[in-house]
Amino acid sequence: MSKRDQFKRTAFAAAAAAMLVALLALPAGVAGAATGAGGPARTASGISAIPDTVRVLMPNGSVQTMDMDEYLKGVVPAEVDPSWNMDALEAQAIAARCYAATAHKYPNADVDTTTKSQVWTSAHDPRSDLAVEATHKVAALYQGDVIEAYYFAHCDGKTRNSEGVWGGYVPYLRGVSCPCGFKSMSGHGVGMCQEGAEVLAKAGWDYTDILEHYYSGVTVESTEQAALQWYFAEGTTRTNFVTYFCLANPQGDAASVKLTYFLDDGRTVERTHAVAAHARTTVDASRDVGPSKDFSCRVVSMNGVGIIAERPMYFNYGVGQQGGQAGWTGGHDTMGAPEPRNDWYFAEGTTRADFVTYLCIANTSDAQAAVTVSYFLESGQSKDTLHFVPAHARQTIDASADIGAGKDFSCRVSSGNGQGIVVERPMYFDYRALDKGGWTGGHDAMGATYPKTDWYFAEGTTRPSFATYFCMANPSDAEANVKVAYMDSAGRTAVAQYVIAARARKTIDAARDIGDGKDFSCRISSTNGTAIVAERPMYFDYQAADRAGWTGGHDTMGTPYPKSDWFFAEGTARPGFVTYVCVQNTSDKVADVKVLYIKGDGTTSAETVKVPAASRSTISANDFLGTADDASHDFALRVTATNNAPVVVERPMYFSYGAGGQGGWTGGHDTMGR
Ligand SMILES: [Zn+2]
Repeated sequence: MSKRDQFKRTAFAAAAAAMLVALLALPAGVAGAATGAGGPARTASGISAIPDTVRVLMPNGSVQTMDMDEYLKGVVPAEVDPSWNMDALEAQAIAARCYAATAHKYPNADVDTTTKSQVWTSAHDPRSDLAVEATHKVAALYQGDVIEAYYFAHCDGKTRNSEGVWGGYVPYLRGVSCPCGFKSMSGHGVGMCQEGAEVLAKAGWDYTDILEHYYSGVTVESTEQAALQWYFAEGTTRTNFVTYFCLANPQGDAASVKLTYFLDDGRTVERTHAVAAHARTTVDASRDVGPSKDFSCRVVSMNGVGIIAERPMYFNYGVGQQGGQAGWTGGHDTMGAPEPRNDWYFAEGTTRADFVTYLCIANTSDAQAAVTVSYFLESGQSKDTLHFVPAHARQTIDASADIGAGKDFSCRVSSGNGQGIVVERPMYFDYRALDKGGWTGGHDAMGATYPKTDWYFAEGTTRPSFATYFCMANPSDAEANVKVAYMDSAGRTAVAQYVIAARARKTIDAARDIGDGKDFSCRISSTNGTAIVAERPMYFDYQAADRAGWTGGHDTMGTPYPKSDWFFAEGTARPGFVTYVCVQNTSDKVADVKVLYIKGDGTTSAETVKVPAASRSTISANDFLGTADDASHDFALRVTATNNAPVVVERPMYFSYGAGGQGGWTGGHDTMGR
């Protein structure tokens, strides 16, 4: 929000305070006529992104599946006057979009065409069309979930709490003061006052300000998987490290992409790269910034074409350190984060012997960030440390300097003074479980931005030479009761139960829960409502066919949401690389899954697989594309359940990385799709 907007909001708050004095005389919980049928759910919607389509029950009783924005173009001019201010129309378009995305009013339809849900007619207006298009996939989110965005014609100077009208407490449906100027209520009074939105738009408020006013505690942002900005905290061109950025463009227009590197010393370097339509491009960071630099990076599409950005790194860590050993070879990878935030959570981290855990913090803002790292130990103890990260800089924290050696921990990293940050956790190791000795490598995870009650993982195995763990963090002050449900490729399920103490972490070894020799997917659920964070480190000696011993480890944060559409920027079937796609089908119907390979030579190819209900499947890119050393074997991926079944998709890769004649940096990495 600009200073100008801040001023307007403050001025309005003063006027509103005067109105509130008069309102205090009203009895609490006065309800207008509820035009929306039924009360809102009390729990989060569990929907993280606006779907492409909506199922509409038509007046003739048929159900029509419409493109979401086409549907909204018929809603906005039926709900409000299309000659209103553009920001009021846009706020209305976003509220209607959120409502449609979270509504399931009928067994086979999400909405109808009447005031029982939202009014829709086939009539369009050019101005409301523009408001819908300008806010494509934009939603109001509460703790990462699309909100149930109730709205109504006008209030009497104050909107109402949800529980006062429907008996269901919803944290973002709070009564707020409203400048609409009416003395009586028309509608249920919960959520956005349409007439009030127009008054605020006239006063210069933008749609973000309007929605944040009527829906308490929400953020307004694009839920397009392809995004205009991506942030990375980690990256280095030191000797024995190679950092790439993979940029995928799933759109029909070329993207012009600017990478801003934030160096340790506070300087920035900017470079622009073109990414053709339906193509992927790989950027070698050393060509952009030169050797021997540590950096964070912001990736911005300059011409409005959404992209996906991912960062694979390969390394020989600690050459000449760790008692003069030869180095721990491997690679790690993460998807970018779409925005800086105040809080980041990690379930995994350890300062045991032969493990090194770092926290990389990027501060891309114009002011210093005061950052508190709260460590939650397996023993239940916790410790806070304070770090200052200068403007436009990155800082690396060695966890052992904060908490000493020999500790397993989870952590929360919080910016205390409102400067948004981005936080990653790279780890390097010589994993020696089961006396096998010497599985060396590294892995990295972008932090989670909220604790949640559900976490899904598509990958996991207890085959020989693989060890799969789940790390769970409970950053709250209440105990968490956790159910771990494993699904194998035959649709069988095994369940284990755990308790995680308040402000503690817990590690579970999947082999103890389900035995050896199984490939599985997993859902981790808190059954008593205490939100947690869950992450899956795996260690391995990968020995596909005739290859000897690609040892390493990989790690990913779970995802709180199954959905039908997933993107990845990285993937390759060049010699020395093996790429898999793991698909978890969390639904009770078969998922028709299309894997689209968006290749480095500008062509695409696709394969389709059927993933049975409640099970997992593994797809080998090398089997489909063959293996060859050319650009047509580098690819980005779009994985879509064409029948809208909710799925979870990960991409594990194993490799012997040999760039620049260095040869034989063996390992593996994995990322959850976007
Ligand atoms: Zn009002």
